[in-house]
Amino acid sequence: MWIDTHCHLDAPEFDADRDAVIGRAQAAGVAQIVLPAVGRSNFDAVRTLAHAHGFAYALGIHPLFVERAADDDLAQLRIALAEHRGDERLVAVGEIGLDHFVPGLDRDRQARFYAAQLHLAREFELPVIVHVRRSADSLLKYLRQMRVGGQIGGIAHAFNGSEQQAEAFVELGFKLGFGGAMTFERALQIRRLAQSLPLEAIVLETDAPDIPPQWLYRTAQERAAGASSRNEPGELPRIARTLAELRGLSLEEVAAATVRNAHAALPRLAALETAVKA
Ligand SMILES: [Zn+2]
Repeated sequence: MWIDTHCHLDAPEFDADRDAVIGRAQAAGVAQIVLPAVGRSNFDAVRTLAHAHGFAYALGIHPLFVERAADDDLAQLRIALAEHRGDERLVAVGEIGLDHFVPGLDRDRQARFYAAQLHLAREFELPVIVHVRRSADSLLKYLRQMRVGGQIGGIAHAFNGSEQQAEAFVELGFKLGFGGAMTFERALQIRRLAQSLPLEAIVLETDAPDIPPQWLYRTAQERAAGASSRNEPGELPRIARTLAELRGLSLEEVAAATVRNAHAALPRLAALETAVKA
């Protein structure tokens, strides 16, 4: 059994064949999928999809969506969290964070939304799913400040930082999300981390429809000519094979460890699995 800890299953890329995509994921052994929201406009979509298929979801405002979000969206997020706080499928506040890679974004506004959402996670006693892109040190700074009132754990998704930053996240109670990026042989830093971090620190994710693994990757030219590089949750076991090879483990060992780690990062997910089995 596998858990895809990060998949945007509500994305329009899946509108034409979403049920088939879910069917392939389940046939491949992906028993649980976490659907993070990106902004107020898809809070209902991720919740509805999670309930329709037995998946889990998170509510939050993504750093790349902060520009188009209204200030009032933070209040709306709080209302949504309060309304669904008793929903067993709501497992985190996310996707939140900071993106210092995309040029021209208002970093102060991103930071304000990020900090406010950390406070909401604290208030509703939920872990967070964070987007880290060239922003690990700033993200960590806020998490350390928050630590004073009790640790907020969660997942640093699509992690691509240094070993030191990885260790700092782990020390703060976070798991690091690995996916399609580690399937590229030239992704030396990510592969080194996937190999050397404590196994307890790693969770798996596809970030589908984004971050295609090497075998789905198409160049910009190929895509312009109509080729699709869409990723999907059913790719998770094959992505996991890379992690197994890097660490010299069996697929079964990787599956068991990463499921355990996902449950530790998102405790409500563990309760959900138990409920499904019972
Ligand atoms: Zn995402």
